[in-house]
Amino acid sequence: MITVERLTKRYGGHPAVDDVSFTCEPGTVTGFLGPNGAGKSTTMRMICGLTPPTSGSATVGSTPYRRLGNPGRHVGVLLDASAQHSGRTGREVLSLAAITMGIDKREVPKALDRVGLNATAGKRRVRAYSLGMRQRLGLALALLGDPAVLILDEPANGLDPEGIYWMRGLLRDFADRGGTVLLSSHLLREVEAVADRLVVIGAGKIVAQGDKAELLAQS
Ligand code: ADP
Ligand code: ADP
Repeated sequence: MITVERLTKRYGGHPAVDDVSFTCEPGTVTGFLGPNGAGKSTTMRMICGLTPPTSGSATVGSTPYRRLGNPGRHVGVLLDASAQHSGRTGREVLSLAAITMGIDKREVPKALDRVGLNATAGKRRVRAYSLGMRQRLGLALALLGDPAVLILDEPANGLDPEGIYWMRGLLRDFADRGGTVLLSSHLLREVEAVADRLVVIGAGKIVAQGDKAELLAQS
């Protein structure tokens, strides 16, 4: 469960996120849609406790989420996969995360397999990865602690059509097992097949939100 209440973030005088409220329920995928610069990343960073809000609040489960530097077991987060330029291999990155989270390192090959990265890919350095591979590794990191909530910022960027189809299945399955997913994109086609609900943001403000079928029937 994610609850966002009247979140606002100003940079200088300019509101990047302006009085945004929505909830994400267990068992559902919420598509967070809006053009580039609309405020999606800033909202997600505030939910994760990485950016302090100017006002308003966000809670994940029953407590505000403030543990991002040390990826939590309750929330899996993928923000800006393109920023991963580690000189370590994918397997090393996952192993370090597993140690930090107190997870058995035998989970690492399983995690790679789960996101479609083979053993050869796991032995390559992350800075040599394509964006699609970074997205897959980011998703493996997000899933590592077996979290109940996933917060994913533009995870389809850089994935090929087959990768997008694969991720859709994984997220649908995650939600059908009771998980909560918040999934951002600037493209309706990347979220419409998997989302149950849509939250649409433009220039920092919520433009529309509700059941996907109802919203799309109105438009
Ligand atoms: P989106 O994720 O929808 O592309 P962002 O949340 O990244 O949008 O950005 C929303 C607005 O806030 C944009 O105008 C962006 O330039 C601005 N912004 C984001 N981060 C900062 C920052 N650290 N300092 C100043 N402006 C920022
Ligand atoms: P995204 O594509 O994920 O929405 P952006 O490209 O908007 O991200 O921003 C990338 C990074 O730069 C983020 O950390 C954001 O906070 C920061 N940023 C974005 N716009 C500005 C800005 N106008 N001034 C300062 N930092 C910014």
